[in-house]
Amino acid sequence: MHVIVVGAGIVGSSVAYRAAQSGAQVTVLEASRAGAGTSGVSFAWTNANNKPPRAYHDLNVAGMRAHAALREEFGRAPWFHQSGSLEWRVARAEVAAQKEKVARLKEWGYAAEFIDKARLRELAPAVAAEAIPDEAAIVYCAEEGWVDPVLYAGTMLRAARDRYGARLKTGITVTGLETRNGRVIGARDARGELHGADVVINCTGRWSNDTVEGSAPTVPLAPTVGFLVFTPPVGIDLQRPLHGPDLDIRPDGAGRLMVRKDSLDDRFTRLESRTPDCEEAKIALASAAEILPELAGVEAEAVRTTVRPIPADGLSAVGPVRGLEGYYVVVTHSGVTLGPLLGQAVADEVVRGRQRSDLGPFRPGRFQA
Ligand SMILES: Cc1cc2nc3c(=O)[nH]c(=O)nc-3n(C[C@H](O)[C@H](O)[C@H](O)COP(=O)(O)OP(=O)(O)OC[C@H]3O[C@@H](n4cnc5c(N)ncnc54)[C@H](O)[C@@H]3O)c2cc1C
Repeated sequence: MHVIVVGAGIVGSSVAYRAAQSGAQVTVLEASRAGAGTSGVSFAWTNANNKPPRAYHDLNVAGMRAHAALREEFGRAPWFHQSGSLEWRVARAEVAAQKEKVARLKEWGYAAEFIDKARLRELAPAVAAEAIPDEAAIVYCAEEGWVDPVLYAGTMLRAARDRYGARLKTGITVTGLETRNGRVIGARDARGELHGADVVINCTGRWSNDTVEGSAPTVPLAPTVGFLVFTPPVGIDLQRPLHGPDLDIRPDGAGRLMVRKDSLDDRFTRLESRTPDCEEAKIALASAAEILPELAGVEAEAVRTTVRPIPADGLSAVGPVRGLEGYYVVVTHSGVTLGPLLGQAVADEVVRGRQRSDLGPFRPGRFQA
């Protein structure tokens, strides 16, 4: 079976690796380079922290476990930082919502526990004790962590090539599917070349509809814009993601920290570029410095705006589309958490012909009339 995977982000690279491992002849067509899309500009927190309904929560837990299993399979996983993560809430209504959430997570068997400030200090010594009020409710989720998605994607693609003979073609923009008698026979690129295949798997994230426009049914998306701020390397000892009220901070390698605020995302209705000296970066770093005082005076080294690939109902869309044989689409938010799990699930279905019941609630067909 010849499978074309379009897109080499965290999802496409996972699918390519597992499909090749399952015995398919795999060709990856990527418009730019591995990880050049949303995967390269993601907060990349591996979690199922607040992802109801139950089926979606379970899928994300399976994603977290698949990251851990991949670490065993590869013997090492320098892209995967299973550090645990910390969250605190202060306002009464937010604390009440957090308590409800933690009760639900515990009932579902998730590692989430309330901790005191002394334990917080052990887990995140750089956090200013006075910045977290005594009445704050602090939660530690031990199985969570974060990923370097581009290193992950590069490693999966190399493994797919070196172990199982997959081919990666970069600089190839797919512009549509080629079909015959209601079945896909390949993907056409912007130069007009036809890349023949038995199955085409569309893993182009937020571009997934543009990729097949006019040649396949699309998945309605409700994308949102995300804004991320990167510090220069700083000597702050932060080993795990922090999630405060309207604030997320995590290490980003080589001493850099990544900072984001939900309220800043709300300022963007479309993809707009910003410079590191923009007002939004200053606001984000001022918030972060309240929690990590050593950040005082540090200016942003870089900022990024990017788009989340979110199907219209907020859940993943994974599977074949009705009426077009040989076409399979995978588009999802939380793709960093879900990547390795989806890679295996898609390979099971497409290459091994085994239906995955865990994907049942997430079929793209739910959007088709
Ligand atoms: C600000 C922000 C924060 C996030 N935080 C988290 C988080 O904490 N945890 C989490 O799990 N997820 C998070 N996400 C979501 C996660 O990053 C995405 O779900 C994931 O990166 C999607 O991966 P992908 O491989 O589907 O898409 P992408 O990474 O976008 O990959 C698609 C690839 O397709 C290529 N491509 C596009 N069009 C074509 C074409 N026509 N032909 C060939 N190639 C093409 C692109 O170049 C790209 O490389 C976040 C996203 C954002 C924006």
